[in-house]
Amino acid sequence: MKSIDADIVIVGAGLSGLAAATELNAQGHDLLLLEARERPGGRILSRHVAGLDDAALDLGPSWVWPENDRMIKLIDELGLRTFPQFAEGRLVFEDQRGLIRRDLELATMAGALRIEGGVGKLIDRLCDKLPEGNLHLGNKIEGIATSAGAGLIVTGSAGDKEFSLLANAVLLALPPRLVVESISFEPRLAEALTDKLAAIPTWMAGHAKFVAVYEKPFWRELGLSGDVISHFGPLAEIHDASPNPPTLGILFGFIGYDAEARGQFGEKLHQLALEQLERIFGYKAANPLEAMIWDWSKERETATQRDHAPLTQHPHYGFPASLLQIEGNGIFFAGSELAATSGGFLEGALEAAGAACHRLEAFLERQKASAVTSS
Ligand SMILES: Cc1cc2nc3c(=O)[nH]c(=O)nc-3n(C[C@H](O)[C@H](O)[C@H](O)COP(=O)(O)OP(=O)(O)OC[C@H]3O[C@@H](n4cnc5c(N)ncnc54)[C@H](O)[C@@H]3O)c2cc1C
Repeated sequence: MKSIDADIVIVGAGLSGLAAATELNAQGHDLLLLEARERPGGRILSRHVAGLDDAALDLGPSWVWPENDRMIKLIDELGLRTFPQFAEGRLVFEDQRGLIRRDLELATMAGALRIEGGVGKLIDRLCDKLPEGNLHLGNKIEGIATSAGAGLIVTGSAGDKEFSLLANAVLLALPPRLVVESISFEPRLAEALTDKLAAIPTWMAGHAKFVAVYEKPFWRELGLSGDVISHFGPLAEIHDASPNPPTLGILFGFIGYDAEARGQFGEKLHQLALEQLERIFGYKAANPLEAMIWDWSKERETATQRDHAPLTQHPHYGFPASLLQIEGNGIFFAGSELAATSGGFLEGALEAAGAACHRLEAFLERQKASAVTSS
């Protein structure tokens, strides 16, 4: 019989998988963390602005909130620092006809916190904590089979090579929709459970961000916070994303069109977004040092076809009790969308990882105890 390759295989090196890996490592478990992309972080992605260490474009999440206890603790443990989202000055409102009001004393994201150097720093620091050889990029998991009394067979591909591993337990740290759409199970998951998991939307997977970088946040000098609500578009919501201190001025906006409509606009969308920024913030906005669109709906390791219509409200997430049955076979579920209370958020990724690690460790303890009794 093939010997065990790793006690635990963790699938997905987003925040949830990385948090689980560092926690299980600290408890002395032998594990492999397998990630389909050629980079860790999943929905967390910060791009550095050329030549500047302290400035990053957060293309995925931007904010944590003071009540996100797990995130605040982790940021502190990793030696990172937060600063308040810039919220001084007036908000700009653009109506359906493009008429603009600049007199609104409102800050939509006041109280939210940003991470110095970008949210991606979290991923860099978590990866630094992992022992060498734990994290394998470019390894896509495609199948999990229960092998009678001998652990789980995890199969996948790395480029054009296929691989197969034997593990005692598997922790799936990815959105539930991706689990059912990209991984086959043997024995198959019950149809009702598959439908339930497929119906859980992946938070923000259908969205796209536009980011523009300037020499300084010139809008602040005009008494504007950088906050915009627009019913005209293409950016539906705009925020100041400058570093602290503001060595550069950065604005980001969520594109207000769904994935299909974005596709129809194609290259033109970039220009339309710049024209909107110029309309709102004046001529200085027309010529950024750099600008880009990042469309999450095009990322196969984040979005499925069902995620292409962006959600208008935060869904009611939770942990389906029916998953506990599968956990009896050693297959555990993390990932933010399965958090009991903070689903969809960064905080939820940590919450789900912590809860899954707890259940997984209890499972391994039971396995060990039954091996001792039967020997
Ligand atoms: C544009 C945007 C803005 C957001 N803003 C905020 C915000 O301001 N605040 C906030 O709290 N949250 C925000 N979020 C949500 C936040 O990013 C997520 O909650 C969090 O990153 C989820 O982490 P995760 O590890 O659960 O999942 P993911 O980050 O999705 O990680 C899953 C990992 O699994 C990998 N994977 C997928 N399939 C396979 C496979 N078959 N085999 C191996 N690996 C696989 C993926 O590549 C990925 O690395 C935002 C998200 C987006 C996209």
